[in-house]
Amino acid sequence: MKNKYSAKLGLTTLTVIFGLGLTPIANAKSIATPYSRSRWPHAQVTYVIQASSYERHVYQAAIQAWNATGHFKFVPGTTAHHQITLGTSNATSGQYYRLAGITFSTGYTNGYYTKAQVYLLTRNFVRYHYSYTDQVHVAEHELGHTIGLEHSRDRHSVMLADNRYNGISAADSAAVRLRYRLPVGRL
Ligand SMILES: [Zn+2]
Repeated sequence: MKNKYSAKLGLTTLTVIFGLGLTPIANAKSIATPYSRSRWPHAQVTYVIQASSYERHVYQAAIQAWNATGHFKFVPGTTAHHQITLGTSNATSGQYYRLAGITFSTGYTNGYYTKAQVYLLTRNFVRYHYSYTDQVHVAEHELGHTIGLEHSRDRHSVMLADNRYNGISAADSAAVRLRYRLPVGRL
């Protein structure tokens, strides 16, 4: 129960499902995790968290999980200087209906991301009885969007469109590694 809305200004974001051959690290049966034509200039971004203590821990656990892959790094920024804002929202209606998290990627410069905003929809967490671990999985999914990953059909991927139970898979990690080895615009 989670989704993303990306304000993809002027960029087409084709969701491409690759064949099996591109994920040598992953299980042979797994499907490669797709990624956007856009990326950050470097495999590192700065963030600030604007959330309660509980959701702060959720975000920090998700950040640690991504940083542990060794292929992308979230580092603390300052209020004045940061690229990603990690927050929460009580919204449950309109576009937030039945969503657990949402990511807005905005401000492109030559195909590079410049800003992103993530919201964890905490009221829906309560309504649908998301555990702490479920919430970390949602945060990992949304952070995956901020990195540039798109929805995967692999039922083990953290980027499954309605992911609740999956952590970061080998295919997810491999996709990030590949994405930041390829120039912007290349899939
Ligand atoms: Zn999503």
